[in-house]
Amino acid sequence: MRALVVGGGIAGLSAAIALAMRGAAVDLVEVKPQNAVLGVGIIQPNNALRVLDQLGILEPCLAAGYPTEGWVYYDHRGIELTRFDSLRLVGDHRPPNNALPRPALHAILTERAASLGVHIALGTTVAGLAEDDAGVDVALSDGRRQRYDLIVGADGIRSALRRRLFGDGHDPQFVGHSCWRVTVPRPADLDRCALFFGIGLKAGMVPLTRAEMYLLLISNEPSPAHVDLPEQRRMLAGYLSHFGGPVAQAAAMIGPETPIVYTPVEEVILPAPWGRGRIWLIGDAAHASTPYLSQGATMAMEDAVVLAELAAAPDFVPAAALDAFMARRLPRCRFVQETSRRIGDEGQLTDPAACAARNERIRSAEPGRPRPHETFLAEPV
Ligand SMILES: Cc1cc2nc3c(=O)[nH]c(=O)nc-3n(C[C@H](O)[C@H](O)[C@H](O)COP(=O)(O)OP(=O)(O)OC[C@H]3O[C@@H](n4cnc5c(N)ncnc54)[C@H](O)[C@@H]3O)c2cc1C
Repeated sequence: MRALVVGGGIAGLSAAIALAMRGAAVDLVEVKPQNAVLGVGIIQPNNALRVLDQLGILEPCLAAGYPTEGWVYYDHRGIELTRFDSLRLVGDHRPPNNALPRPALHAILTERAASLGVHIALGTTVAGLAEDDAGVDVALSDGRRQRYDLIVGADGIRSALRRRLFGDGHDPQFVGHSCWRVTVPRPADLDRCALFFGIGLKAGMVPLTRAEMYLLLISNEPSPAHVDLPEQRRMLAGYLSHFGGPVAQAAAMIGPETPIVYTPVEEVILPAPWGRGRIWLIGDAAHASTPYLSQGATMAMEDAVVLAELAAAPDFVPAAALDAFMARRLPRCRFVQETSRRIGDEGQLTDPAACAARNERIRSAEPGRPRPHETFLAEPV
């Protein structure tokens, strides 16, 4: 098996690792000239820890991050509504969840891929593709021409490969919310992920390391239009003033120079199958989700492991393997997209009575149980 992975994000690096672990010769092209990622933090729920274990990088992720037992939900004043404990999927001696800075995860994935012999070409992309029954001839932007058994399109939410295969009818759709994130010092008592439900606004606090956490805020926005930095600071300060308790204390730590990561929330709903012949899409290229279950990167890593299992099999037949891939991936990824979208919409309700009813529903959840979606996602992949 000779595979080309297009895109060096979480999906692409995970696919490269999973394929190389099964003996494939893997090239990866990343269009960015530097091996760096922008980003704040990544929450790794229990099914993420399971797939990190399969990729051989669980321990470094736990060491670089902040393991947590579960979630705690508050109202906007900081009064606790309930708390959830997650199922342990990687052994009783290990935590159920983790979160870590995004650059730390990138460094761990890159090091693992390099140690398995994956050849990574930065500043490079695909210039042309020609598929026949036995393989795919690829012209790369650096002038090389190579032949591969499989092309993995892991080029993210604005995937050029998706457009090449399926046209432009599947571009990302803005869902009406934006996410604001800042990294600030972690309060000593923040030892699980916390969400704060307000009116038209939701905030969150995620421990990333012993020293740091990120503060997040979700707002309703009329469009995904660019907002310049001074306006971002003004808007974020206004939104955060809605909250009391721990969020207000965290907001007070935002300085005039604190970087703000502002992301209009978008989804990609691509009908099955997520590929043609020997060219398969994974991760955000195939199924970008709203972030309210913290599952986007996890689904990308699960895609990678399933893809490698099917594509590196000795009896690999592309059409049958792609069908098998879709049978295993579509139900989970659609469940995440639909559940996350519903939870996201509930979090952004603007009617005070509806918000009070929502908070009452949350309060009535028995403390210490897993969040409802976890049971489905704990099922074997
Ligand atoms: C606000 C927010 C918070 C989130 N929080 C979480 C979380 O806590 N936990 C979680 O699991 N998920 C989370 N996600 C989702 C997660 O970030 C994504 O699902 C995940 O990063 C997708 O990885 P990817 O590799 O598919 O795409 P990307 O990370 O976008 O990687 C794509 C890569 O391909 C490269 N590329 C693009 N075009 C080309 C090309 N033509 N040729 C070569 N390379 C190319 C890009 O430069 C990039 O490096 C969050 C998402 C958002 C928006």
